[in-house]
Amino acid sequence: MFKGSNLVKASELLEAIQFFSHKGWSPATSTNYSARSEMKDEFIISRSGVDKSKFQLNDLILINNQGDVLNPFNTPGVKSSAETEIHTALYELFPEVNCVLHTHSVKGTVLSQILQSEKEMVFEGLEILKGLEGNSTHQLREVLPIVPNSQDMEEILFHMKGKFSPEIHGFLIGGHGLYTWGKTIAAAKRHVETFEFLFECYFTMRRF
Ligand SMILES: [Zn+2]
Repeated sequence: MFKGSNLVKASELLEAIQFFSHKGWSPATSTNYSARSEMKDEFIISRSGVDKSKFQLNDLILINNQGDVLNPFNTPGVKSSAETEIHTALYELFPEVNCVLHTHSVKGTVLSQILQSEKEMVFEGLEILKGLEGNSTHQLREVLPIVPNSQDMEEILFHMKGKFSPEIHGFLIGGHGLYTWGKTIAAAKRHVETFEFLFECYFTMRRF
């Protein structure tokens, strides 16, 4: 069980997970979520295979930067998400990032599948873009890369090589879902909401 500041972080992460589940962005035990713990190289992360509509505080576990489940969470049958490697890679890449969130919404899945050959989605001129950290105006070009899906996380990360920069706030995996991150859990949660709103706008404007 988490204590002190880790308990505060775990509780905030749980609240975000429950919110995403209510929105229908985490069906059929899919999706995964993490936050950097009070130790820089240890992360609070959702355990694998849990129905997100029933997700509880004790479904959050602690891992190190190699993805190993740490004591006292390393009991038989407890596994970190199959996509843990993406989380640890993002924390290594962006030392200022303290939360990584991954959702599977219908619109995110559909758009990432349909637009896969374009390799990115571009959003411009919408007020909601200010929901993304560092954006102070709607007059900018927000790029969301789209990479092919794979069950091999290294392959997904390979396709993102050269596309990670401080300017982007997330990426889509084709026919799969969204990864986004932030300096705080609140910022990362806001990024999920912002991208979902942008997906709705994009979808509506093009009437797929
Ligand atoms: Zn996924």
